Amino acid sequence: PPLHKQRHEFVIQFVKEHKPKKVIDLGCGGLKLLRKLKFHREIELLTGVDANGSVITKKMHSLSPLPSEYLQPGTGPLTIELYQGCVTEKEPRTKGYDLATCIELIEHLQPAKVDQFAEVLFGYMGPSAVIISTPNADYNPLLPGCSGFRNLDHKFEWTQAEFHSWALKISRSYGYRVEFSGVGKPPCHEESVGFCSQIGVFYKDPSKCNAPLRNQVNEDVPVYSLLYRVEY
Ligand code: SAM
Repeated sequence: PPLHKQRHEFVIQFVKEHKPKKVIDLGCGGLKLLRKLKFHREIELLTGVDANGSVITKKMHSLSPLPSEYLQPGTGPLTIELYQGCVTEKEPRTKGYDLATCIELIEHLQPAKVDQFAEVLFGYMGPSAVIISTPNADYNPLLPGCSGFRNLDHKFEWTQAEFHSWALKISRSYGYRVEFSGVGKPPCHEESVGFCSQIGVFYKDPSKCNAPLRNQVNEDVPVYSLLYRVEY
């Protein structure tokens, strides 16, 4: 299967294993991952966020229930919410999730914004688990015709060493542990180049649950705009 499907399949496998109830997809784009996740009905709240509101509005009706789904007995309630918003801004409605996914998002941020994103994601939103996927620059020489970045909108592409050192630094700062993985296996005898898409899976250390500080209340002003909401 194509790489973008393999990345989404990686998330689906995680969901099957860990059964998160609240899932937020940051940089949800054309909603492909959300359309798959909505069939995993342990999920009760499924949220998508993208800076580009028009990619959401174009596709949002593909998330409305089918007539047969209204009639399906035995499945629990599900709410889907889609927001236009920038992931480097603190939005109170993004707190309290079990899983946040960032699939091919981080390399679209200005390098100077990456640590601000980490502060918002790990420090402020503080989900129990985070999945981050990003291109592995070590793999690029194996891609035919790839000189420079894989996509014109990428602001950077990290080698495995760069991604690992960033992820370990962030994990230490915010009380997470990280496991490295990926999709798109390297060819035989070239294992050292690693996966085509590198993935970090971060788990919050349960002993480091940060209690909200009272003086943060004033900060809790909604900044995202709700584009779509549906209840199953
Ligand atoms: N996650 C999707 C997937 O797996 O197919 C889409 C990935 S697409 C390469 C990157 C997405 O991130 C785009 O839809 C873009 O609009 C969004 N994006 C870029 N910068 C963003 C930001 N600062 N806040 C929210 N979304 C952003």
